Amino acid sequence: MPELPEVEFARRRFLAGMEGRVVDDARALDALVVPQPASEFREALVGRRIEGAERRGKHVVVRLSGDRGLWFHLGMSGRLVPLGAPDEPTDASTGLPRFTRWWLKTGDLTVCLCDTRRLGRAVAGTLEESRAHLAGLGPDALDVKDEAALGRCLEGARGPLKAALMDQARLAGLGNIQVAEALFRAGLHPETAVPSLDRAARARLARAIEESLRDALAAMEGLETLVYVGAGGENPFAVYGRAGEPCPRCRSLIVREVARGRSSFFCPRCQPAPGTAPARGARTMAQRHSHRRRPST
Ligand SMILES: [Zn+2]
Repeated sequence: MPELPEVEFARRRFLAGMEGRVVDDARALDALVVPQPASEFREALVGRRIEGAERRGKHVVVRLSGDRGLWFHLGMSGRLVPLGAPDEPTDASTGLPRFTRWWLKTGDLTVCLCDTRRLGRAVAGTLEESRAHLAGLGPDALDVKDEAALGRCLEGARGPLKAALMDQARLAGLGNIQVAEALFRAGLHPETAVPSLDRAARARLARAIEESLRDALAAMEGLETLVYVGAGGENPFAVYGRAGEPCPRCRSLIVREVARGRSSFFCPRCQPAPGTAPARGARTMAQRHSHRRRPST
């Protein structure tokens, strides 16, 4: 599933092939993924020079000449795939990579946005309109570099840490995978209440977020296209998707628990549940919830 590192990879790959070149042709093929008239999408882009691409969190805005812009995000399964990429199955009727929802052509390079689940979005228009899609996002997670910056993002949050870190209005770019990895590095349980974090824990977490993102980006160096872990790609992560496997630090078995409809992967020993002494090991979330339900009188 694309999070900040995968979207940054998409941005860099896009620019590597297309920066400075003029869009010869562009097509929107799916009215759900591109919720504007296909002719409007095409007219906003064709004949414009690609001047750059900026990213905030999981969103990208491509800058084009004449103050034009193309905003997109990848949803749950979106990927940018160059036409003709090896090992990429193509649709026999169109000759495009399967599940292509929109594409852009500059010279001999065509970049296709493939999205099986159609939860990604793209809209072309003025640069101002494109940037307006970023309003409401918190600072990019790679720009949250220290305890003070992270503290500002978490200000006023009362609930569990995992939910606050995934809230794109607080800080933009983290999803289930990067939150799991950062919390593991910081030794923090996903259900830790935000107000209970002290300054040292916030500092540890800020460092963990940055390291986790940098490692994920480094793991993609040199790749042409990505295959997401959920789609059968290699799993480079320490705890995400590793339920039942030994913790890389203490060899306890990684646990998967579901809260608010989302899986959490963590080490019950390195990331003890809130209110649990680390030496005794962590209780499961289910045990904690049954404890909470007991009458307090
Ligand atoms: Zn561990």
